[in-house]
Amino acid sequence: MNTNAFALRHIGPREDDQNLMLKTIGVDSLDQLIYETVPDDIRLKKPLKLDEPMSEHDYLVHIQELSKKNKVYKTYIGLGYHPTILPAVIQRNILENPGWYTAYTPYQAEIAQGRLEALLNFQTMITDLTGMEIANASLLDESTAAAEAMSLIFAVRERDQKKNNINKFFVSDNILPQTLSLLQTRANPIGIELVVGNENTFNFSSDFFGAIIQYPGKDGQIVDIKTFISKANESQIKVAVAADILSLIKLEAPGKFGADVVVGTTQRFGIPMGYGGPHAAYFATKEAYKRDLPGRIIGVTKDTNGNRALRMALQTREQHIKRDKATSNICTAQVLLAVMAGMYSVYHGPKGLKFIADKVHNTASTLSEYLSKLGFNQVNTSFFDTLQIKTDAKKIKKIAKEKNINFFYPDDETVTISINETTSIRDINDILSVFAESAEKITLVIPSLSESNNISKSIQRTTDFLTLDVFNTYHSETELMRYIKSLERKDLSLNHSMISLGSCTMKLNAASEMLPLSSPNWGNMHPFVPVDQAEGYLTVLKELEDQLTIITGFSATSLQPNSGAQGEYAGLMVIKAYHDSRGDHHRNICLIPSSAHGTNPASAVMAGMTVIVTKSTHEGNIDVDDLREKAELYKDNLSCLMVTYPSTHGVYESAIKEITQIIHDNGGQVYMDGANMNAQVGLTNPGNIGADVCHLNLHKTFAIPHGGGGPGVGPICVAKQLVPFLPGNPLVKTGGEKAITAISAAPYGSALACLISYGYIKMLGAEGLTQSTKIAILNANYIKHRLQGSFDTLYSGERGRAAHEMIVDCRAFKANGIEVTDIAKRLMDYGFHAPTVSFPVAGTLMIEPTESESKQEIDRFCDAMISIKKEIDQVSKEDENNVLKNAPHTLEMVTASEWKFPYSRETAAFPLDYVKNNKFWPSVRRVDDAYGDRNLICTCAPIEAYMEA
Ligand SMILES: *Cc1c(COP(=O)(O)O)cnc(C)c1O
Repeated sequence: MNTNAFALRHIGPREDDQNLMLKTIGVDSLDQLIYETVPDDIRLKKPLKLDEPMSEHDYLVHIQELSKKNKVYKTYIGLGYHPTILPAVIQRNILENPGWYTAYTPYQAEIAQGRLEALLNFQTMITDLTGMEIANASLLDESTAAAEAMSLIFAVRERDQKKNNINKFFVSDNILPQTLSLLQTRANPIGIELVVGNENTFNFSSDFFGAIIQYPGKDGQIVDIKTFISKANESQIKVAVAADILSLIKLEAPGKFGADVVVGTTQRFGIPMGYGGPHAAYFATKEAYKRDLPGRIIGVTKDTNGNRALRMALQTREQHIKRDKATSNICTAQVLLAVMAGMYSVYHGPKGLKFIADKVHNTASTLSEYLSKLGFNQVNTSFFDTLQIKTDAKKIKKIAKEKNINFFYPDDETVTISINETTSIRDINDILSVFAESAEKITLVIPSLSESNNISKSIQRTTDFLTLDVFNTYHSETELMRYIKSLERKDLSLNHSMISLGSCTMKLNAASEMLPLSSPNWGNMHPFVPVDQAEGYLTVLKELEDQLTIITGFSATSLQPNSGAQGEYAGLMVIKAYHDSRGDHHRNICLIPSSAHGTNPASAVMAGMTVIVTKSTHEGNIDVDDLREKAELYKDNLSCLMVTYPSTHGVYESAIKEITQIIHDNGGQVYMDGANMNAQVGLTNPGNIGADVCHLNLHKTFAIPHGGGGPGVGPICVAKQLVPFLPGNPLVKTGGEKAITAISAAPYGSALACLISYGYIKMLGAEGLTQSTKIAILNANYIKHRLQGSFDTLYSGERGRAAHEMIVDCRAFKANGIEVTDIAKRLMDYGFHAPTVSFPVAGTLMIEPTESESKQEIDRFCDAMISIKKEIDQVSKEDENNVLKNAPHTLEMVTASEWKFPYSRETAAFPLDYVKNNKFWPSVRRVDDAYGDRNLICTCAPIEAYMEA
């Protein structure tokens, strides 16, 4: 046996354990279990046609060789992406640290205070720099954030008497091209008419409900937003500003001029370009719009003892509650990247950031001065970092290329140059020499930077920023390292124990999958470089697309969507384009089973569809009769069905082929939500089941870490008829022949994160992938078996088996006064993160162990659950002072001189023996959500501010 096979490292249970587990659940072999679980008529008959698996070592050699095929030139393209310096202390202690990157979205606040604090720092940084009242943490990229801004303003308009039948939105022609493309994608389905024009000549009329401008413009010229916003306000036009975060250090905050929304990317704050992502976007707005804010807001509240505690605020606005009333489908965002960008500000502080912004500006100004001396016409009169030179662009391009330099060339007469944090004097001398050569002159030598200010006085920043202690304390590496560690210790991640989140597939994120992300040859690639410089990336991305196409049984893949929800939206827009291409413009009905994830109806509405909900049977399956009835009733206008497989109830419905057939017979397409793909890989696939398109969550099934709520990659894989419509990009040719406009800012979405899934598939190969699926099913069925007698499983397949996850019913415990939340909180005392709470069924837990968890870990988890069940049996409704209601127990409680509870300290903190070995202490007592929502504070304002509230 090859004991170095990656599959043996990735898969948890050892062979002996597997045999024991099979015996426990009463089957002879793994194949027998799979036979009893997956319906025979959807099983694949042949193994996936993928390359032989590579060992970890071979893979690392391979990926390094590929990285050398990327030509990392000096790049001054700008357009929302810039070379940066990621402080090594942040790289080592966050980006490369599983304590941070394997954490889950902070729904369980008591064991997530560290990343919640880091995100609160991020929000504070954003509100300070933008001058707005509230900010979220965070969004997917600048262009989707701009589209969300448009949607928010549109949603607000609907409630505004004067504007509610006006649908025109003004877009400055100086907006980034990828943002314009995304606004086009988003506007049309919800009935917004975009009017693109010059902001200086814009005729402010009451025909418009909103406008968006770029600050500074894509060509580098700084627009006078002060005048624009005040004129817009006079016509009741709400204004969104897409602002460069670094420039805001020198430019006055748009909030000061009355902007309604400010958005942008935080990539410039130390995040590698990574050929387009992942990076965190920011979104800031007025307090008045807090209920319309997309994404997650971190807020301050208090715990049971009245101590300050953080948690995600206003959860009611999540799609799970709002469903088809939601105006945004953002779920996974870019949390890890937001944490890093926030930490960049913590490390540099206001003085450090000012130093960086000044240096960038002075470098650009000095270069401008010398270009003029050489006789060049630099036309930007007010600029931060980007120069615009009118000259023979073709000639410059040729010379620059020879010197391994990339500028941006909007047309044959124009060159733009964006200066960044890494640009040195030597670099600008090199730039100058390109221009000298073009002018056939002897180059000048720039000896040092001059300090001139090329920003119009009226918009120079005068307001302070980042004045709070957290931004003025951790400026030495020792201090920052310890600050990061202190936060990390408050958070339970996969490096402590299993996180069995149903539908979220918290599997191993292997170190060898992650290592290449630190390489500058992958990190320092701008998404808009000429393709011949990106051969390494294009090889990996093409192969990953092919691998995913094979795994899903389809014809092609687009890696562009940055999350599962974006994949849903992309898939639906592709279906819409397909119907339109056949003249079926009227097909707009989307059938969605009642058990669907909340993002499904939210995405359908964003795609301009009307959602019709279909029923489930009490076994948890789709009610086929109801589905047929509705498909036939709406057959003239049927666009598609959205279906999750195996179902969100954790069952492989055997009627699935019949279901897809019914939809096709009635003229619809089938969208499969691929969040549960971990139960399919190698055994069956969406193509085989009869679907037409699916998204995958590479951050679930394909080993990209959750990062505390992102990065995500949500590619869509499609059948032949949909291939022509795969999304494109205005600057780099991608997608189909009749590509829909952009879904994400970058042509390949979060390309850097794609390396992880590529490595996962490369190292597992067909056999390892299929074995992973089988063991995921074994682990789930083993848990189901072990919990029998303590917890009822809500649904199972025809032969009594679970799929890769199961729902356990906790509703009966209400008789003892125990809610499912109490179980979730009590699990923390045992060292575990709760499974998925109350999705898809209220009052239940959905458990998904994944293949990576060993039998020993699963046994500890089951022991904890069984022990909790015994505790439940001993408590009653009448007395709330019990070990479940008081959970979780903090170190402070257990060591306090006073102990007033009717159970021992040991029962509270060390309920089972194994806990003593590896205790995890929740850092706060149970948080009070309602209090925090009533007194929303989403910045790290001093403690008095929220005490008064
Ligand atoms: C996770 C999930 C989604 C959303 O994916 P994101 O990447 O968080 O946007 C959609 N559907 C189901 C069933 C999911 O579990």
